Amino acid sequence: MTDTNRRTFLAGAALTATAAATLGASKGAAAQSSPPVTAPTTPAAGAYPKPPYPTDMQPWPGLASKMNPRPDHGETSYKGSGRLAGKKALITGGDSGIGRAAAIAYAREGADVAINYLPVEEPDAREVIALIEAEGRKAVAIPGDLRDEAFCQSLVDQAADQLGGLDILVNNAARQQTRPDIASISSQDLDDTMKTNVYAPFWLTKAAVARMQAGAVIVNTSSEQAGSPSADLIDYAMTRAAVLNFAKGMAKQLAPKGIRVNAVAPGPFWTPLQISGGATVEKLRTFGSDGPLGRAGQPAEIAGLYVAAADPLLSFSTGQIFGATGGNGQPA
Ligand code: NAD
Ligand code: MG
Repeated sequence: MTDTNRRTFLAGAALTATAAATLGASKGAAAQSSPPVTAPTTPAAGAYPKPPYPTDMQPWPGLASKMNPRPDHGETSYKGSGRLAGKKALITGGDSGIGRAAAIAYAREGADVAINYLPVEEPDAREVIALIEAEGRKAVAIPGDLRDEAFCQSLVDQAADQLGGLDILVNNAARQQTRPDIASISSQDLDDTMKTNVYAPFWLTKAAVARMQAGAVIVNTSSEQAGSPSADLIDYAMTRAAVLNFAKGMAKQLAPKGIRVNAVAPGPFWTPLQISGGATVEKLRTFGSDGPLGRAGQPAEIAGLYVAAADPLLSFSTGQIFGATGGNGQPA
């Protein structure tokens, strides 16, 4: 590659597709004088709340609709472009937080969406159902407790029956409860965390594979905690590492069937998980301030990765970890 060509390539990589096309037409001469057209953050991100955050706690599992400030799940901002047209998706924990952002994005990308949540989260779930239906997509609400194997099997069956198939499973629901030391993690805590965060994705995946065809995708939710566990999240962090490993292994097992398996690894995000026992008051107040972006992410800022992980165009991406950690790198 000549120096001129190399400069053109590097500049072009930083531009939008449209601008890059224009650049190509100008044979590279403009590349050296054009200012960058992309900013490191969107205008919306610049307006997102920064620490110190209010510390209004709620009893588990919490409601997004009662949070202060309310999270941005992309309700007014996410714009789709048909990337998941005609797909049928089941999203656990689709009522709030990251799962709600994924549900909104999937509906706006043309998918019909079933969401699972706990019965006490019905008010949040109703908002999501209305948002999916506002896109003219089918919305299916299936409340129930994922710690129960029989319910997990029935959830997949109900979703596939009511949607008319299952192309995408998003394993997103999780339990996270801060505990100062191992002595204060009861066996019940450990069991609840493992059942929700490890057993349920296993049971759901097992049931979903039986209903899926070639071209289907499973998207798991891990965390930066998988590689950098916090001292007060021992049981939770173990499960995020397990899910990462599960995604990589299942990607290998299901490749011959044409089913892709990916994972998304969030960093700190402003969701009910954190204000309903997931974080201490001290951690919540300064949430995300130790990262390069200096704040917590909003669920709207990660929805695009759930779309990417399931997008048929990314047909060579399986066993991948898609990250949004605010600058703190990837889990191992
Ligand atoms: P969230 O509270 O909005 O979502 C978690 C959901 O899990 C709840 O809405 C609830 O419906 C569901 N859930 C919990 N226990 C359940 C059970 N027994 N049965 C059925 N549903 C149950 O919080 P979120 O932060 O959006 O969490 C979504 C995912 O993101 C989780 O997998 C979490 O580990 C991951 N994550 C979150 C963060 C963060 O900072 N918020 C960081 C890394 C990873
Ligand atoms: Mg919720």
